[in-house]
Amino acid sequence: MASPGFDATFYDLQLRIELSPENLVGTVRVRGVAREAMSSLVLDFDPAMRVEGVLDRNGQPLASSRPDGALSITLASTAMVGDTIDVTVYYEGRPQVTGLGGFVFDTNQSGKPAIWSLSEPYGARTWWPSRDHPGDKADSVDVSIEVPQPLTAASNGVLTHVEEVIGGYRRFHFEHRYPIATYLVSVAVAEYDVDTQLYRRPPALAQDLGELELPLVHYSFAGNGAFEGSHPQYGFQYITDIFPVLEHWFGPYPFARELYGHAQFTFGGAMEHQTLSSMTTNYQGTMAHELAHQWFGDSVSPGSWRDLWLNEGFATLGELIYWQATEFPDVHDQIFDIYYRRALQAEGTLVLQDTTDVLDMFAHSRVYAKGWMVLRMLRGIVGESVFREILKAYAADPRYQYGTARTEDFAALAETISGQSLGYFFAQWVTEGDGYPFYSARWGKRPNGASWDVEVTLEQTGNARTFQMPIWIEVQTAAGARQFLVFNQLDVETYIFTVQDEPSGIIVDPDRWILRAEDVVVTHMDASPELPSSGKLSLYPVPAIGRITVESTWGQPVAADLVDGLGRTISTRLLPPGKTDWTLNGLAPGLYGIRTAQGVTHTFILSGQ
Ligand SMILES: [Zn+2]
Repeated sequence: MASPGFDATFYDLQLRIELSPENLVGTVRVRGVAREAMSSLVLDFDPAMRVEGVLDRNGQPLASSRPDGALSITLASTAMVGDTIDVTVYYEGRPQVTGLGGFVFDTNQSGKPAIWSLSEPYGARTWWPSRDHPGDKADSVDVSIEVPQPLTAASNGVLTHVEEVIGGYRRFHFEHRYPIATYLVSVAVAEYDVDTQLYRRPPALAQDLGELELPLVHYSFAGNGAFEGSHPQYGFQYITDIFPVLEHWFGPYPFARELYGHAQFTFGGAMEHQTLSSMTTNYQGTMAHELAHQWFGDSVSPGSWRDLWLNEGFATLGELIYWQATEFPDVHDQIFDIYYRRALQAEGTLVLQDTTDVLDMFAHSRVYAKGWMVLRMLRGIVGESVFREILKAYAADPRYQYGTARTEDFAALAETISGQSLGYFFAQWVTEGDGYPFYSARWGKRPNGASWDVEVTLEQTGNARTFQMPIWIEVQTAAGARQFLVFNQLDVETYIFTVQDEPSGIIVDPDRWILRAEDVVVTHMDASPELPSSGKLSLYPVPAIGRITVESTWGQPVAADLVDGLGRTISTRLLPPGKTDWTLNGLAPGLYGIRTAQGVTHTFILSGQ
């Protein structure tokens, strides 16, 4: 493992790619600061790569050795805390293909060379020496790539110049002046058609975020038309439709001083390389996913691979919010169904307990689909506008932007912005709990003066744990449907709603705001429902103004809580038999309830004064 006391600040990768035989020749300068006294610098570097030598910044050779999976460099003198360490490593070899790829010599469908990297999560070390941990970002990176003509090379950041090199090679120089994690440093080489565009931030967004004209560069395999696309949902050119949607939700594109683009590769999927996503397809959903990663994954990187859902859940959210904003709403609905069902198959906690099995880490059902559903559930709890504020604040927070964040950082920020205690939510869905709730419901109706009371008993079965969630319950009547939000936290809980027209049915969680077993068995009881106890509370007037009268038919005093729409207790009283006035001064208009110790919640609306 690389030196934990080393803080990398800059990497300069000078690479030469040879095709026959396939070979990578590298000169990599590694600069950083000692955070503890260090007599040697250990970098992650795969033994398949042969190190020819290491020089210090004065050109003096340094001794090195190859302990397991690493390169250990003996420094000329012990570096003290705060000292700069600056070494250059000379090496070559054919990188071992591992994990999702690493560094790959391949050919595309035209039989032409396609050479590319995909280093997430542990692949950077297979082709260049670094402190290969997402928590140690360099402040900046230079990449130059020498390739035989007529190949074109692409990498992160701005192409500063191209030079001819003897022997029929060209060298492409890139500079990237933003912090970057090692796994996001990229190489993509092929015979490319290069198309450029500008993203002009639309006026409505520019009012909020300022003007922006961002260069866009797309590298498509020569002749395959990936830029134009052959179907309305395909084509790199449509990235200009995706940008405004994601900027609306996430805030300004984080690498706005430079550019964004796509480079085709043959991996099969895609990879959010910083400022230049590597793409197999030109499908807009994938483009939205990779662009979303520029905020979540690239600018805000995971502090640990355990927090991978902070990358993939957010990028998957990017797909869904993009499709919802387009003229293809049916695509949104299809993808919603597919991902929702996948999320039900997620195994284990969303925060990864094991980060050694790369394929398991990237199982779509968990960090992608369930990660997205967790964000959707959060949106359901805090509401759309607060949710958007959370996303934007998280992306822009100076503690995390261009740095890293952990799950607990995001959870704390969501609590701060929403003003809600969300510990129960993150514990049961992200950090501690797995699985999902199974709900069933029984309901009945009875006249209540000119209105109707609907009594709904919600039951959780099929999971050893009891989930605490706000749940929408829709009551259907001939005059239309009405939704009530209740906070469900017991295995068996009863709610009473009042509606004007005779109810004909109920639906639990009609809009799938909760990751739950898809079938909710709803049973109707024809007669007036059995009350769960020998007493009964009646509330009036409904809607309430300023106060509510609670009438109890219990023979003895019963304890009851006044709760808000999220089930949080506002005050508790002992209700004697008969009528009690409960004042509601200072409460905002909305849905409230009187909840008894027997788990029955009588909901009511408090209207404005
Ligand atoms: Zn992704």
